[in-house]
Amino acid sequence: MCDQPTTVSLGRQPKRSANVCYKCNTAKPAVKIRHTFYCQPCFLIAFNNKFRSRIGKAFKLSTTKKPRVLLALSGGSASRALLDLVSNFSRLDYEKEDKQKFEKFVVCHVDESCLFPNSASNAAKIQEYVDAAGIEFSRVGLEEVFTSDDAGHVLEVSPQSSFISGDVRAHVVASDASPLDKLLALFTATKKLSAQEDLLGHLRSTLLLREARRHNCTLVLLGDTCTRLAIRVITMTSRGRGAALPVELNDTSAWLGG
Ligand SMILES: [Zn+2]
Repeated sequence: MCDQPTTVSLGRQPKRSANVCYKCNTAKPAVKIRHTFYCQPCFLIAFNNKFRSRIGKAFKLSTTKKPRVLLALSGGSASRALLDLVSNFSRLDYEKEDKQKFEKFVVCHVDESCLFPNSASNAAKIQEYVDAAGIEFSRVGLEEVFTSDDAGHVLEVSPQSSFISGDVRAHVVASDASPLDKLLALFTATKKLSAQEDLLGHLRSTLLLREARRHNCTLVLLGDTCTRLAIRVITMTSRGRGAALPVELNDTSAWLGG
């Protein structure tokens, strides 16, 4: 046996002391990201710069190519952080409208209070929040998925799918009931919680894409987090949809385009 004392690796060590900010080297740190400590102002600057670099490369933006952008805002911390980042980026260094990064920037909130009555006051607060930032706001109720001519296509499913039964689909689409009644009937007929969650996500995506088309937006930004992506990986793999993961998890995807 070797007499040398065993050294145990503790992984990657901090770049700087935990007692001082890595950037300004003076303030007390408030945030730790990947073994690096930042004070709050330095963290916000670093985070915005990182986002600016990533989004510029991902969307290949230029002064002559300005996309029309729709951002989905649920009101949660992730989508509010995304709104702040995109809002800062879209008006970066410029006050004049013709110098802004996007040709159009719209924030869309899908109001789900018809299913979750406790969230009824959220939409008004979100609108207030977006209006204060001077950004165009679009609010759409979840039941409005049945107000369009393409409502029948919203519930198109494969014959083998257990997602929604054909009878339920026919009843909901053909019925003369109000959009809200149709929505409630659909969720009542969908018994499994996981299926209800899938259905909600599907209807939400449908409405966001419809709003994006209505505003002629070519980009839809979603505030996904690493936790949600991890959940999606496990969910899709368990359903045998692993082949679609590279597309679903990419920075940009035309998967839902058309
Ligand atoms: Zn600092």
